[in-house]
Amino acid sequence: MSADRATALRGLPSVDQLLRRLAERAELHGITRARVTALVREALEQERKRVLEEHAVPAGVETLVTRVVERVRRAGVFSLRPVINAQGVVLHTNLGRALVSPLALERLAAVAVAYSNLELDLASKERGSRYSHVEPLLQRLTGAEDALVVNNNAAAVLLALETLAHGKEVIVSRGELIEIGGEFRIPDIMLRSGAVLREVGATNRTHLRDYADAITPDTALLLKVHTSNYRVVGFTAEVSSRELVGLGRERGVPVMEDLGSGSLIDLRPWGFPYEPTVQETVAAGVDVVSFSGDKLLGGPQAGIVVGRRAVVSRLKKNPWNRALRIDKFTIAALEATLYAYEAGTALEAIPTLRLLTEPLARVRSRARAVLRRLAPATRARLKARVVDDHAQVGGGALPTVALPTAAVAIGDGGTEAMGLDARLRAGDPPVVGRIVDDRLLLDCRTVLPHQVAILARALSAAVEPDRA
Ligand SMILES: *Cc1c(COP(=O)(O)O)cnc(C)c1O
Repeated sequence: MSADRATALRGLPSVDQLLRRLAERAELHGITRARVTALVREALEQERKRVLEEHAVPAGVETLVTRVVERVRRAGVFSLRPVINAQGVVLHTNLGRALVSPLALERLAAVAVAYSNLELDLASKERGSRYSHVEPLLQRLTGAEDALVVNNNAAAVLLALETLAHGKEVIVSRGELIEIGGEFRIPDIMLRSGAVLREVGATNRTHLRDYADAITPDTALLLKVHTSNYRVVGFTAEVSSRELVGLGRERGVPVMEDLGSGSLIDLRPWGFPYEPTVQETVAAGVDVVSFSGDKLLGGPQAGIVVGRRAVVSRLKKNPWNRALRIDKFTIAALEATLYAYEAGTALEAIPTLRLLTEPLARVRSRARAVLRRLAPATRARLKARVVDDHAQVGGGALPTVALPTAAVAIGDGGTEAMGLDARLRAGDPPVVGRIVDDRLLLDCRTVLPHQVAILARALSAAVEPDRA
């Protein structure tokens, strides 16, 4: 280091100096001292770099204090916090997937702050099962003999394969060897479960005889996997659940189906393509059916397994089940979610279903309401207007569906949209939109009604820095 740089560095304030000044700032109330200290060190480190590498004149106490306060203002007290989903992806894995219903939240809160009968049979005072709170509901809703719930669907698949096929062969179509993202690949899960993958058919076509020819005394399971996040189109053929069950019965091999999203409602009346429901899959005779709690079902994160008692009971006894078990919050929220299906109120009560089936006119009026709340000058500056576009279901469900939607479109090309997008993400609450053709689109299908005013305020605030 040159002598002049060393001298320049000595011009930087000390950690203590900055902490003393920051102690006077009201904006930092609620932020722990340890966190403020860490932020101060970070700010000083950045400044040190600037002085050494860019030969900058060191910033003074006031500038550094302002930077730290600004960082805290943007990041807030807590790391995990609500954001406004203006991306138009209803089941957005990075944004927390399914939103739970108010009733689910109420039940969750009730058992979170008080003791509960989680594993106590109140009638006999004997030890009960945590699954008893959701099993009967799942049996009635799906028609299955037995049910089990684990941490997520990936865990459900792992548990089923480990229980039924460890050291044995599992036959899967080449067209269904999916990767879901987030490290979930059917071949990898299979390897970890100790099952041996036996691929059959071709990527685009698999026939019943392909499965039949592959069955040996080592075959433990016929597995069908929903190709959640992609579609093979054109010259294709796949074997139906019913056909596979027929073969399985004939040869004495159980059949499993990983439905991925797994819907309890046929969504065709709302313009969605046909997807076999969980009930239909169970009725087809599939021995084990697994699906997620927080995809189309619209509940908490969970992996739900339903099927024949003789098979599901084996999963329950596997020690892995204990390692993958769900907590009381999940059970409470799941029970409330399933209750809405049984009560026939799912379409209004469950946010995921409401967002998916909401008529375009209502989404459009939400977009217009955002626009109306902007000051005329802001609206003109942003060149903001309402446009029609397409949103997505997300969560690896119904990948080819283009949901009609309306968005507030900002800018008419150029880098302006990028800057605004970054400022909106840095705001409080953060807003996550999507950039299309150099325009920023704030998709209102996934903006909740109570967020309209908040979104308009966030937009106005994000424009402010440019006014100066
Ligand atoms: C999403 C998905 C999974 C993983 O489910 P998680 O609940 O996210 O663990 C597994 N299989 C299929 C087919 C899926 O679509």
